[in-house]
Amino acid sequence: MSSEERYVFVIEWFDQAASLIRKYNLTYFTVDNTIDMFDIKNRRIFLKRCQYPGLSVSELFIGATVTIYSRQLKVIDYADVFTRQKFETQRSKTFGMIKPDCYNNIGKIIDIIYSKGLRITNLKMIKMTLTNARQFYAEHTGKPFFEDLTNFMSSDVVVGMELVAENAVPKWRELMGPTNPITAKTDSPNTLRAIFGTQGTHNAVHGSDSATSASRELNFFFSLPNSPAVLNNCTCCIIKPHAIYQAGKIINMILEEGFEISAMMMVHLDKPTAEEFFEVYKGVLPEFTAMVDHMTSGPCIAMEIRQENVVNAFRQVSGPLDPEVAKHLRSNTIRAAFGIDRVQNAVHCTDLPEDGVLECEYFFRILSGR
Ligand code: ADP
Ligand code: MG
Repeated sequence: MSSEERYVFVIEWFDQAASLIRKYNLTYFTVDNTIDMFDIKNRRIFLKRCQYPGLSVSELFIGATVTIYSRQLKVIDYADVFTRQKFETQRSKTFGMIKPDCYNNIGKIIDIIYSKGLRITNLKMIKMTLTNARQFYAEHTGKPFFEDLTNFMSSDVVVGMELVAENAVPKWRELMGPTNPITAKTDSPNTLRAIFGTQGTHNAVHGSDSATSASRELNFFFSLPNSPAVLNNCTCCIIKPHAIYQAGKIINMILEEGFEISAMMMVHLDKPTAEEFFEVYKGVLPEFTAMVDHMTSGPCIAMEIRQENVVNAFRQVSGPLDPEVAKHLRSNTIRAAFGIDRVQNAVHCTDLPEDGVLECEYFFRILSGR
């Protein structure tokens, strides 16, 4: 046996045909970026060692969903001590939140997060109640700024994010900068609080102060039910998996065009869900199967978008379905800027005015269990 470095994970795949969960060991060989898969129950090689350029080591962490040959696999555990030690010390999670004063800068902040090498593995917009805010900031109960802080945090929507990186907690706090935005502007002018904060409580972003707080805050935030979706006069936009690292730029474009984003969630669609959501395109769009495969290949961000006559207005900003056509005819559209081909065309947007509410309900009521 060589001393070649390898990471081994336990992964699960829900085999729909057989209606059972199959477990494998997935090995990632860092020397040549190859993988293999071993069927744990039947004790045999399931996938021979091969190159799989679609999968990078940064996508492997507990809780991740990765797609290998159209199968959606969930990473559930480390399979050996070496992998556990390597990953638990290197990769960690924190909770980040964009505060109500930064609604207009949501896109810019998400873009900075990606550009600094943090990954967003979950994201949700909510409007906290005052009670939520008081619980979230319980450690500050009784301090002079507590009432202001909790009123402010429940005054409008916030975007909460699970952020993953090496040393995620200090990394995100460093990017945020000092608590007081005035101090930040003089001492650390390149930080988020310096750029986007204004004064005192209005300091643009939140970040956990330790791994323990991160775990408490992630659990707290992502179990809050209150999606701010309005479910009228709305259209549904989904940022597709290939464009997820451009999500900040796309969101910024939508806001700068004057649309309101009234709800937002990151979601990893499975095949039955994607097939159900896109059912009307079955037999109509030649790329239907390819589209479902793509939509399930990684996380998407679904949004409820509002304005006058929003479905048609938003289609104008999205641009023609085919990014090639968009680039020639409508170069200032989302698909012209971020699309690759007819399947990977950056965003889905509702086609017909009467479907806007239905599509938003699908994500913000049915999938969110509201
Ligand atoms: P941080 O958010 O940097 O972890 P704290 O946990 O101390 O800072 O405070 C929580 C939040 O309370 C801050 O982000 C800020 O919005 C608000 N806050 C803290 N101290 C003050 C203060 N002296 N005056 C006004 N608001 C404050
Ligand atoms: Mg704090």
